[in-house]
Amino acid sequence: MSALTKLTLKAALEGLDTKAFSALELTQAHVEAVEAARPLNAYVLETPDKALDMARDSDARRAKGEAGPLDGAPLGIKDLFCTEGVRSTAGSRILGNFVPTYESTVTSHLWRDGAVMLGKLNMDEFAMGSSNESSAFGPVINPWRRAGSDTKLTPGGSSGGSAAAVAADLCLGATATDTGGSIRQPAAFTGTVGIKPTYGLCSRWGVVAFASSLDQAGPIAKTVEDAAILLKSMAGYDPKDSTSLNIATPDYPAFIGKSVKGLRIGIPREYRADGMPAEIDALWEQGVAWLKDAGCEIVEISLPHTKYALPAYYIIAPAEASSNLARYDGMRYGLRVDGANLTETYENTRAAGFGDEVKRRILIGTYVLSAGYYDAYYLRALKVRRRIAEDFEQAFGKVDAILTPTAPSAAFGLGENADDPVAMYLNDIFTVTVNLAGLPGMSLPAGLDAQGLPLGLQLIGRALDEGTLFSLGGALEKAANFKAAPGRWW
Ligand code: GLN
Repeated sequence: MSALTKLTLKAALEGLDTKAFSALELTQAHVEAVEAARPLNAYVLETPDKALDMARDSDARRAKGEAGPLDGAPLGIKDLFCTEGVRSTAGSRILGNFVPTYESTVTSHLWRDGAVMLGKLNMDEFAMGSSNESSAFGPVINPWRRAGSDTKLTPGGSSGGSAAAVAADLCLGATATDTGGSIRQPAAFTGTVGIKPTYGLCSRWGVVAFASSLDQAGPIAKTVEDAAILLKSMAGYDPKDSTSLNIATPDYPAFIGKSVKGLRIGIPREYRADGMPAEIDALWEQGVAWLKDAGCEIVEISLPHTKYALPAYYIIAPAEASSNLARYDGMRYGLRVDGANLTETYENTRAAGFGDEVKRRILIGTYVLSAGYYDAYYLRALKVRRRIAEDFEQAFGKVDAILTPTAPSAAFGLGENADDPVAMYLNDIFTVTVNLAGLPGMSLPAGLDAQGLPLGLQLIGRALDEGTLFSLGGALEKAANFKAAPGRWW
């Protein structure tokens, strides 16, 4: 049955439709794969009984001719999404054994369409990180290894569990979230496809908040088409999220295979980072050549405020986080460590419940918002954010999409950046601009480095123009013909 886990989501849905196999068989194969892959630490909670029940229900619906668009597809859910009756931790000790009494809107859309839940996926604590090493459950191990080496590599973060699970065939697709790059960088590190939609496309209701003006949900998938199928289901207006956009969801899969002839593609000169490996530059050039061959016109553009994006992000995101995380006080959710009085209970709970990276962000966020520093840091960062959005507005007057590398390196070893937060933050250099401007960005695998590790290219689009990204992503995917997969060592 293990061949069933190798299928793309699209192929699996076709197989279910033609009755080549049942949802129960497909789910059983995935449940076994998940169990066998525990050394990767991708799942923090496996829900096999629930999965098999959902699969049986799916088979019954299909027999009655009532199958939905994702009916019987086994998926993994990032543990930032609240799932009714199923423990949701955000990768933190402070939520303890929190079991939500409600379902996030995004996951409820997946279940509405018939998908099956395999379990909850590991992640950096409160989605803060680029390596999955800040998780209270320990790091996820990337299924990919450098050629001839058994060094453990990170799958990236914060959606490391989602990316590793998709790359290792432990689900047909996964939910993920991206505040500064957490869908795209893990996708690049694992040879998978990830799309961060336009801010407001997917509801944030029921997704544990990190930085509310930046957080967006999206899928990580095996192919561009699978990502389109998943996003179509995840997206949609939700009155429970005041920033949800009230628009009809386009038919994203229909954009795949559409001609990209005549589209103008911007190449931002500021994205040539110092010290970036020559292989990443070469892959970027290759991406340009592929799009030219497909009939696109290449235009050099400038995004002059790019160099201020990381500093602005690392002010705005911690500021919002320090406010969002104030609610974890030991009174309402999860962990409580009692003290002699109320203040001491707060202190003890937060000291024991939060990990180092989360504490660092709360301290930075509280500092930049405090009287006397607010204007110098927070307000300034908001002004930079506006400039960055304007850079993109100007660029999109001349081009239809932008091509860049996704990350400045391939997957790195566990522990390699762990003691140097600034080195870790540099991972987000090509991705945070997109969140600051609220735009859609997609990462897709385009090649391997000299050590045999996947590298990703990023496409950035106009607000709400995910369709063009799917057309371009489909064209690049076809040209790159990326077929490599990690050897099974676990
Ligand atoms: N690495 C970035 C951070 O730590 C982005 C995280 C994310 O997108 N959730 O803030």
